[in-house]
Amino acid sequence: MAAALAVCGTLVQCERPPYVQRDKDADAQSKDDADAQESWLVIRQAWCVCVDAQGIIIHVGPLAEAGEIVNGAQKVIRLEKHQMLCPGFIDTHIHAPQYSYTGTATDKPLMSWLQDYTFPAEKALQDVEKAAEVYERIVARTLRCGTTTAMYFGTLHNASSQVLADTCFRLGQRALVGKVSMDRNGQQGYQEADTKSALQDAENFVRNLKQSQAGKAGMALPVLTPRFIPTCTPELLRGLGDLARQYDCNVQSHISESLDEVEFSAALHPGEGSDAILFDAAGLLRKGAVMAHGVHMSDADFALLKARGAAIAHCPLSNFFFAHGYLPVAKLLKQGVLMGLGTDVAGGYSPSMFNAMRSAVLASKAGAIQARTAHLDGDHIIDYRHAFFLATLGGAQALDIDDKVGKLQVGMQFDALILDADAPGTNIDVFPRDSIEDVFQKLCTLGDDRNVIRVFTPVLLQAYMQKRAKLETETSKE
Ligand SMILES: [Zn+2]
Repeated sequence: MAAALAVCGTLVQCERPPYVQRDKDADAQSKDDADAQESWLVIRQAWCVCVDAQGIIIHVGPLAEAGEIVNGAQKVIRLEKHQMLCPGFIDTHIHAPQYSYTGTATDKPLMSWLQDYTFPAEKALQDVEKAAEVYERIVARTLRCGTTTAMYFGTLHNASSQVLADTCFRLGQRALVGKVSMDRNGQQGYQEADTKSALQDAENFVRNLKQSQAGKAGMALPVLTPRFIPTCTPELLRGLGDLARQYDCNVQSHISESLDEVEFSAALHPGEGSDAILFDAAGLLRKGAVMAHGVHMSDADFALLKARGAAIAHCPLSNFFFAHGYLPVAKLLKQGVLMGLGTDVAGGYSPSMFNAMRSAVLASKAGAIQARTAHLDGDHIIDYRHAFFLATLGGAQALDIDDKVGKLQVGMQFDALILDADAPGTNIDVFPRDSIEDVFQKLCTLGDDRNVIRVFTPVLLQAYMQKRAKLETETSKE
């Protein structure tokens, strides 16, 4: 099969989660590389990834063995010394309508923050033109930062949330989009009229989005989105659980995020148990369900989540502002709890997954300091490699789309980035003694949107190839 595009140079990716032993029979290709044999994060130099015109990966392997397919490729990108190809970033928790006030409103605890900033901003996006403006900007911004997939909260409004999904598709970002459901404890003008109409709107949103995306390779998927326990009646939660089962849909919400939220939940449901137990009773803990934060979950809650195949969206930057605690990421990864990384815009002030990765490392350091002060045991530290896992393969597993994206292997879709440590205006200085591992660590630790020099999804690949054809500038070296 002829390749539309071949990218030749250094490839970095997580081939499996950390702390999980490799299946001896799996991945015969990896066995060729003795250095990578035991590693879950691999950096392969002089490698080659080839993609067909639909954006499906058709070859991954050593460049030395790929002469024929590379020579036959319509376009070849040969990476420079400090450039590398990696899977695109996956933001597992982000609120698109809150982007307009990102970088402000960092001064209040969660429950008053919602009332004073969030609900008014979301209410305003009932106007689809206003929504279109905000959504155009957040999708463009996150794509520039290397986010090829995002799991978005929209607003209560079906039409505006559909605009968000349409914007993602048009700009080439893979998206899982939720119309928010909330039938209590909102505010004047921003709460659904009653539970019945809330469920009808949620179902209409799922059906319409599925219909509008037919034949578009699953680039935008609907998500059932109860905001969180305090704003959803048990009837609404149960109805959404039924819809998740009926339409085989992803689910997203917030879970045991902060002390004020946990107190509010407990006051509404005395003696009924934790957020996790309440979600589970409604059938909302399932594969592809992504629950943000989880900072105040118990070991039993995490075990329940794991048993159901549901995942945590770890949002470390937001946690510093709201959560009154930290998530024990290293412990949960060792236990095999599914987990991705989220920016949680605007609770997290940065839409960049580079910042989310750095914040995850810092949060684990803060957790270790706290544990030491309290004389607790525990392995809390994660490093840039674990953060990169959460931002790529971990996110794909959390969203239950790891059969399509999260790593670059044959048969998967080409959601990928070219990172360049030497990009114009870069914040990074590479020295002659730096190894390729050092360059990758510098990209994770110091990188930003300037270092993302090319973003690919199947939609963006088609646009790229059309542009190349139009300009008639194909050469064997970019
Ligand atoms: Zn959130």
